[in-house]
Amino acid sequence: MTNDERQELNNGVAQLGLQARAEQLDSLLRFLDLLEETNRSFNLTRIPRADFVKLHLLDSLAALAALPSDSGLSIIDIGTGAGFPGVPLAALRPDTRMTLLDSTGKKVRFAAEAAASCGLANVSGLHARAEKIAHDPQHRERYDVVTSRAVAPYPALIEWMLPLVKPGGVAIALKGSGYEQEMEGSEGLLRALGGGEPRVLAVRIPGSEIDRHIISIPKVARTERKLPRA
Ligand code: SAM
Repeated sequence: MTNDERQELNNGVAQLGLQARAEQLDSLLRFLDLLEETNRSFNLTRIPRADFVKLHLLDSLAALAALPSDSGLSIIDIGTGAGFPGVPLAALRPDTRMTLLDSTGKKVRFAAEAAASCGLANVSGLHARAEKIAHDPQHRERYDVVTSRAVAPYPALIEWMLPLVKPGGVAIALKGSGYEQEMEGSEGLLRALGGGEPRVLAVRIPGSEIDRHIISIPKVARTERKLPRA
């Protein structure tokens, strides 16, 4: 970690209107060091180190705007890869219990072990496919919040996310600019999944020209048993 990165993170967090303690930000910067080191031997990210703060940390933290403020939330981040957005969210919301889920074992092991070694005690890893655990009673409709970034097109994504959300909870997907087209024609599927009216919040990633769209879908009814499809 460099002083420049610390400054960039401090400024970005302030621009996003967030509060963070110095040790929370230090944990995240240590996490980036581990990511860079491990990325030399195992491909975890294609984003260059110079953009880690902006495109991994600040982009993930933008989702905090959509996270309910209740304490003790159980959250699962599906297709977490190297731990985004799950690890930054867990760092700034230590009151939550964060499960990092990925279908690639090496990625989820890295993310969970690196988070633990950065002092984040509220993070655990799960190596599985989202559509599989969605039929497991231990996971189906068990989470207050399900998050995801860059995992699948919208229709597949809602089919993987919403079955994991408790009625009364919320699915939060981070999407780029093509999201409107992706959402077209999925109203019937959304209803069958128990999803309510999606709300979209556009947030400019500090220090960039990139607009992140945070799509929040409330879970208003139980998901039909046949969903998700295999
Ligand atoms: N969310 C991370 C990020 O934004 O940096 C990683 C994004 S990466 C492009 C997509 C990840 O989703 C991969 O790590 C992949 O293994 C995982 N993935 C794809 N399909 C999945 C599924 N059905 N269940 C769980 N993970 C899945």
